[in-house]
Amino acid sequence: MSSVVYDCIILGGGASGLFAASMLTNITSGKANILIIDGNDRCGKKLAMTGSGRCNLTNRNVSADKYNTDCTERLERCLSAFGYSDAVNFFENVLGIETVCDDGLFYPATYRAATVIDSFRFYLEDNNCVMKFGVKCETVSFKNGFYEAYLKDGSVYKSKYFICATGGHTYPSTGSTGSVNSVLKEFIRRDDLVPFKPALTSLTSKMPGIKALAGIRCRGKVSVSPDGTNAAGSSEGEIIFSKDGGISGICVMDVSGKAVEMLDKGQKPVAVLNLLGKGFDETYMLLEDRKTKFGQRSISSALTGIFPRVLCEFICRTSNIDPAGTIKDLSDDEIKDLCGAICNLKIPVDGFGGTDKAQVSSGGIKLISVNEHMQYGSFDGLFIIGEALNVDGRCGGFNLQWAWSSAAAAAKEVGSRCLS
Ligand SMILES: Cc1cc2nc3c(=O)[nH]c(=O)nc-3n(C[C@H](O)[C@H](O)[C@H](O)COP(=O)(O)OP(=O)(O)OC[C@H]3O[C@@H](n4cnc5c(N)ncnc54)[C@H](O)[C@@H]3O)c2cc1C
Repeated sequence: MSSVVYDCIILGGGASGLFAASMLTNITSGKANILIIDGNDRCGKKLAMTGSGRCNLTNRNVSADKYNTDCTERLERCLSAFGYSDAVNFFENVLGIETVCDDGLFYPATYRAATVIDSFRFYLEDNNCVMKFGVKCETVSFKNGFYEAYLKDGSVYKSKYFICATGGHTYPSTGSTGSVNSVLKEFIRRDDLVPFKPALTSLTSKMPGIKALAGIRCRGKVSVSPDGTNAAGSSEGEIIFSKDGGISGICVMDVSGKAVEMLDKGQKPVAVLNLLGKGFDETYMLLEDRKTKFGQRSISSALTGIFPRVLCEFICRTSNIDPAGTIKDLSDDEIKDLCGAICNLKIPVDGFGGTDKAQVSSGGIKLISVNEHMQYGSFDGLFIIGEALNVDGRCGGFNLQWAWSSAAAAAKEVGSRCLS
C-alpha cells in the first residue's frame, strides 16, 4: 500500500472527475493532495468524442426539465448552485479555455474537445495533482477512517475523501462500463441503484420498406407513444433514416429514452414523425399548391423538391395511394390522408441502438440517495458525481453541464473541509 494518504481520491478521469479535481485544486489553491485514477491510459477518452469532437460544453437553456431523474428538486438546486455561466466562467478564467456560443450551445473557441482535455491536464499538472492511468479500480473500502481504493495491479491507495466519477454505461470502449455499483459494492444499497439503460440512442424498426429510406434526412418533429396517439416525449430537428432500418438524429435521441422505457415494460412504442415539422393545415395548403402547379405530374414527381422520391413513395404507400398516380386526380380525402402521413407518420419501434451506440445512459445511483453535496447516504466523505448518478439529459450540452454541476457540488464541499 502506498504510504501517502491523499486528501481526495477521484475515481474516473472523465468529464466530471477532471472538473472535480480542477475545482478542488482551485478552491484550495493547490493545497489539496489529489489522486485521479482512471483505467484508460489517458484522461477524458469519452470527452474527446463529445459533440463530434467539438465538445458541446454546456447550454444557455439549462434547466431541470431537460433531464430525467428520480429527484427533480435536488437536480434543480444543483443546477442553480452551479449553472452554465459558472461553468463557462470556470473554463475561461481558471482553465484558460475561450468559449463561443452558437445558438445557445457553448463550445471551446477552437471547436476541439482536445483543447478541453489538454487544458484540464495542464492545469492539474501545474498544480501537482497525481494521476494514475491504465489500471482499473476493482473495489473501495473504508478502514480506520480512510477510504482505500484497490486496483487491479494489486496497488492500494488511501484518502480522507473519495469521489466516484466512473460515468454511466455507454461506449464501454471509453472505460464507462457502469462500474459504480461493483466498485462501491461495500456501500451501495441495492434499492439505490436504477439499472443503466441506453438513453440517447437510435431507434430501429422492421416496418416494411423503411430500409430503402437509408440516408434520407429531413427537418421535422418526432414523438413516441405506446399507441401512436398520446406522445410521451417530443423533440424537433433533423431526422435521419439509418441503414439498419430505423431513425436517428439528435431529436430522435432526445425521445429514445422514453421508447426504451416502453420496450422494457413490454409495450410497443410508436415513433410519430412530422416529416416537415409543419401543422396539418399548412401541409394541406402545400399539397394543394403542388396540385395546382404540377397537376399533370405523378404524385412522386409533383412532390420532388419537398421529399426525395423514395420517401414520397413510402408516404404514399402508407396512405394506400399509388405514387405513380397523377396528382390532379387526388380527391380531397386522399390529399388529407397524405397530409396525415406527412404530419403523423407512425413508425413501430422494435429496438434501439445498444450501449455501444448510446451517447448517455439512464439509470445509476439514485439522486435522492445523495445529499446536496453529492455525498452518498450516511457515508461521510464518499461522493458520487456525473453520469454514475441517475440523471440523464437531452442532447445539446446538458449532460456535460450535469457533469460540471455535480462535480462542483462535491468539490466545494471537499474543498471547504480540506481548508477547515
Ligand atoms: C459520442 C458521444 C458524444 C457526446 N457528446 C456530448 C456533448 O457534445 N455534450 C454533452 O453535454 N454530452 C455529450 N456526451 C455525453 C457526455 O460525454 C457524458 O455525459 C459525460 O462524459 C459523463 O461524464 P462522467 O465523468 O460522468 O463519465 P465519463 O466521461 O464516462 O468518465 C468516466 C471515467 O471513469 C473511468 N472509470 C470507470 N470505471 C472505472 C474503474 N473501475 N477504474 C478506473 N477508471 C474507471 C472511465 O475510464 C472513464 O474515463 C456525449 C457522449 C458520447 C458517447
